[in-house]
Amino acid sequence: MTRTFTFDIHALRADLGGIEIEDNPALVKQKSRDFFWYSPVLKGQLDHITADLVATPKNEAEVIRILKAAYAHDVPVTPRGGGTGNYGQAMPLSGGLILNLAELNKVKSIHPGRVICEPGAIMAQIDKETRAHSGQELRLHPSTYATASIGGFVAGGSGGVGSIRWGGLRDIGNVLRLRVVTMEAEPRILELTGWELHKVMHAYGTNGIITEVEMPLTAAYDWVDVLVGFDDFLAAARYGDALGNADGLLLKEIAVVAAPVPHTYFLRHQKFIREGQSVAILMVAPHSLDAFEAFTQREKGEILFRSDKAADLKGIPPAYELAWNHTTLRALRVDPAITYLQTMFAPPTHIEKIETMTRLLGDEVPGHLEFVRFDGKITAMGLSLVRYTTEARLDEIVRLHEDNGCPIFNPHRYTLEEGGMKQTDEIQLAFKHEADPKGLLNPGKMIAFEDPSFDFHAKKTFLFPGLQRAG
Ligand code: FAD
Repeated sequence: MTRTFTFDIHALRADLGGIEIEDNPALVKQKSRDFFWYSPVLKGQLDHITADLVATPKNEAEVIRILKAAYAHDVPVTPRGGGTGNYGQAMPLSGGLILNLAELNKVKSIHPGRVICEPGAIMAQIDKETRAHSGQELRLHPSTYATASIGGFVAGGSGGVGSIRWGGLRDIGNVLRLRVVTMEAEPRILELTGWELHKVMHAYGTNGIITEVEMPLTAAYDWVDVLVGFDDFLAAARYGDALGNADGLLLKEIAVVAAPVPHTYFLRHQKFIREGQSVAILMVAPHSLDAFEAFTQREKGEILFRSDKAADLKGIPPAYELAWNHTTLRALRVDPAITYLQTMFAPPTHIEKIETMTRLLGDEVPGHLEFVRFDGKITAMGLSLVRYTTEARLDEIVRLHEDNGCPIFNPHRYTLEEGGMKQTDEIQLAFKHEADPKGLLNPGKMIAFEDPSFDFHAKKTFLFPGLQRAG
């Protein structure tokens, strides 16, 4: 199938009277972008992309009106939460309408162990309300906690802070229920639970618009940020692994970052870190601190910073804003030539694999590990930094990882499959044909729908024919 999109945006607009619409090209372009520029490859491919209009519904009824009208006029619709995705997930490849969900942002109700909210609710705000209500918080959040929406996290994210205890969003039980509106002549409202959630989770908004989210909650603590220094990256990696496996200690975050990254790029924390130190970035529950200190002393780690003991925290960001994709962001701000890769170092040979890749690539690919529970086992997810030179060299680095048994989830691709499992997700594909028969929701992101004959083993990058031409 080679699809291109022709539509009459004025006719759509005429049908949307009473709904907040933005058509100023500069503002529309702003809302058509996310953090795609993290990748020099995506920056080259997507920089020119823009929608024609932005619609900002105030409630679910307006969402339904917008979808119905867009369906009638064959206009592509790309949903947007906080716009913090970093694979171009929220970018309208074929133009059309941005469905800005920022004003559907209410926390509707809080119960023991769960919260019900609108999709545009910002995660830090949800926690503020659940903490005040009953001392509870979300199990998981991305490092973009302060600006990302819960709907965008479920549709475009994977896990983050809290994944060391709770695993990822993909783990059954980490999302309880989604209310979803379909893209049909008469949009339907579906309530998905259990395995059905997979139809819409991590589908980049290609399979329906999420209008309500029910998430599990856990006990909230005044988490203490801690940095622990090591003279050797592998010693830091072994420590992070051992800490993740210490069953009696309660931590919300364990990341390990290789020298020279912490001292060179963590500018706000630089005064606590010596040059040449690799650092573990941690969030520890207050009641675990004594035991944690004893553990760290035995493992010969040097405690460099504790947020509960710092004389002055002014200007010091929270520890999670040094971790996950924030590590890359901090490096990029100092050295724009830096990008990154996502790798999995699977147990039980993860430390050996990390050692191999460190030996093969050295400072061209400084190590960054996020320890998480994956299928119940403590696993090191690599978010290694890359000192980028050319796309060919980046591909070679990807190949080197794969040849050494470290699968790569390529963050330099805008499609679901190429960034993920490199195969068709049959459940999501079947649901897309049902929920979005014209293929108007976020076109170009699901290869299996756009080009069923695409061969994932041919090692070719998918080129979406509907991509707006540059210039
Ligand atoms: P957006 O970027 O607006 O959207 C994400 C996707 O969801 C898009 O495809 C969009 O079309 C779709 N979407 C949005 N709302 C809806 C809806 N209501 N219905 C259907 N589809 C919808 N990700 C992680 O998983 N973990 C991390 O730790 C993490 N850290 C990050 C750090 C930095 C510095 C950056 C730049 C990114 C990071 N990310 C991380 C990626 C991203 O921030 C998160 O996934 C975030 O949760 C996305 O939320 P958002 O509201 O910004 O979504």
